[in-house]
Amino acid sequence: MFGEILCITEIFLDYDVISDFFWLVPCIPRDYTILFVPEPNFQRNFTPMSSPPRPTAKILEIRPFAVAKPPPALDAWHLECLPMLEDNFGYLLTSPAGKTLVVDAPEAAPLLAAASRAGRALTELWITHGHRDHTAGIAELARRTGCTVRAHADLKIPGAVPLPDEGTVAFEGELFTILNTSGHSELDLSFHAPGLGLCFCGDTLFTGGCGRLFAGPPERMWASLLRLRALPDDTYLCCGHDYAHDNFTFATRTFPAIDIFRDRLHEVETARRQGDFLMPTSVGMETRSNPMLMADHAHLATALGLDGKPAAEVFAKIREMRNRL
Ligand SMILES: [Zn+2]
Repeated sequence: MFGEILCITEIFLDYDVISDFFWLVPCIPRDYTILFVPEPNFQRNFTPMSSPPRPTAKILEIRPFAVAKPPPALDAWHLECLPMLEDNFGYLLTSPAGKTLVVDAPEAAPLLAAASRAGRALTELWITHGHRDHTAGIAELARRTGCTVRAHADLKIPGAVPLPDEGTVAFEGELFTILNTSGHSELDLSFHAPGLGLCFCGDTLFTGGCGRLFAGPPERMWASLLRLRALPDDTYLCCGHDYAHDNFTFATRTFPAIDIFRDRLHEVETARRQGDFLMPTSVGMETRSNPMLMADHAHLATALGLDGKPAAEVFAKIREMRNRL
């Protein structure tokens, strides 16, 4: 089917850099495809040997926060946060009727296994953005389950039902608002379900950090972050990667006088020792403790010698410093 296969197995420093690389895939001749092969040595190349064991999936029972309508038949929705690849997350949101929505598809097999373990019917797959580590499993998931794939038309995913930049999309009677939260890539969508108090935000926002700026000026990403920050504080945020330890290490070193960054670093270290992770996070928690969302706080600007500068400029500086961690 393909002219030649190029295997990439052990060359990068962290997963963000792999994302950079996959972003360049369109530059590679069409006769080539790239396989991301997590062979046994892979983990060792990325992770110090002293690291704690990799966490397993976490399943939360979601009780709808909204008061506009009663909880559906008093049955719970369930959200499974599934660590995948090196530091990606895949998400399975299951309705009381057992129908499952998957958001992003880093790889197919773990998502299929998770769905079948719980006897769930995978009926929908939504994609936040076009980076390969969020899309690699789409074709197999669609082929194996017949699920409806929804993604923005610009991503050119074969067979996908197009999503608009802004608007709504429904799953099992729950209405999700589509937010254009671009800036990490040319087109990033977040899916916010007010009735479930839940938002899938892809690589726009992470626990303690945000995605790299691959598309547009910092002002664009800052505006996207503000859109997420404007959601209700008790909204669960489901992010595309787990960089929490690196993010809070960076925050603690960069802003040593701000206690909450140290508190969160301690929190993530405790979670890792217990095989847990800080996901999902929440809008309120990130508003209080994510330096990327705090660029309009005077004490951060002061710490960087940027008193009185626009928040987007302070944000750009923090993001640029984080790149060098
Ligand atoms: Zn990405």
